[in-house]
Amino acid sequence: MPYTVVYWNRAAADVYEVIRSEMPVGWHLVTLEGETQEGWRAQLRDADFVIVADWAITAEELDAAPKLRMVQHQGVGHERIDKDALKARGIPLALCPAGTTVGVAEHTILLILAVYKRLVVADAKLREGVWLQWGLRSVSFELTGKTLGLLGFGRIGQAVARRAYAFDARILYHDPYLHQAPPEAAAWDATAVSFADLLRQSDILSLHVPATDQTRRCMSTPQFEQMKRSAILINTARGTIVDEPALIKALETKTIAGAGLDVFEQEPVKPENPLLKMDNVVLTPHISAGTVDALRQKMQSVFANLQRFAAGRPIEDRVV
Ligand code: NAD
Repeated sequence: MPYTVVYWNRAAADVYEVIRSEMPVGWHLVTLEGETQEGWRAQLRDADFVIVADWAITAEELDAAPKLRMVQHQGVGHERIDKDALKARGIPLALCPAGTTVGVAEHTILLILAVYKRLVVADAKLREGVWLQWGLRSVSFELTGKTLGLLGFGRIGQAVARRAYAFDARILYHDPYLHQAPPEAAAWDATAVSFADLLRQSDILSLHVPATDQTRRCMSTPQFEQMKRSAILINTARGTIVDEPALIKALETKTIAGAGLDVFEQEPVKPENPLLKMDNVVLTPHISAGTVDALRQKMQSVFANLQRFAAGRPIEDRVV
């Protein structure tokens, strides 16, 4: 049966092309036209299914989609989706860890190495004609032998651990909600510790928890003060987890040594954000899972799940 799928996010034409190329034959993809929220909502009218990336879905979107049967997230961070409103309509929401996990784990390693090797400064200075062959040596580091602390040891935390283990890093994690560590965790020598020990012992502290009321600004001044002065913070999870003004202060006062950030309290980052002027940070625009490899894998997984639903079979990674 031909279903109508609305892609509830704006994207470039080449992204829509990839999505269409993975869509079941005969299905119809609606990509949003116009520039107003009202106009976009009107295009939900015929949706059987909605695919969402990072846009919100509220009761208003659901009201605009009378035929909607299922919402399929193309990632995993679902804090902007009104689960109660979906439940009230009996509409399921499913996540898509495929593509997401590998992309974010690779990006986490990329940020660690980029901060440690001062990659952005080295590149920028070289382009200005400044050859820093010796100039960065005393402030550059290797991942090998360092202690990597993971806050959150779910899909992405574990995927980072697997990769960091290959770099000979020592791995600690804190995740009080993890019922059972995966069997591989022992092979990676990954050790569960308290949050305080994670803060105190980590050379690199990397965040992999969801955005919840409990994790909101769980990294603030008291936490930065417990960290090593040589430590770096990596955030590829969500901007709300870090108290950004407190992080800026910790970086300015050298309470911690550096940061690699893919997510921010406010996105896009405002031009006056002091992080933009700091050379001990590496910043990326929320692109951890933003590869074409990930997009293809996500769309294969997304459409497989929608087809499961359409065939009346159980769907995977269901949240509500
Ligand atoms: P997951 O659900 O598999 O893992 C999250 C882990 O965090 C779970 O094991 C959970 O027990 C743990 N946790 C929850 N609250 C905690 C707390 N207060 N303290 C310690 N641990 C806690 O999710 P995942 O697939 O690993 O994704 C993690 C997060 O990464 C997502 O929620 C999303 O916000 C973020 N993410 C970011 C991007 C990006 O583009 N930057 C892409 C995908 C996901």
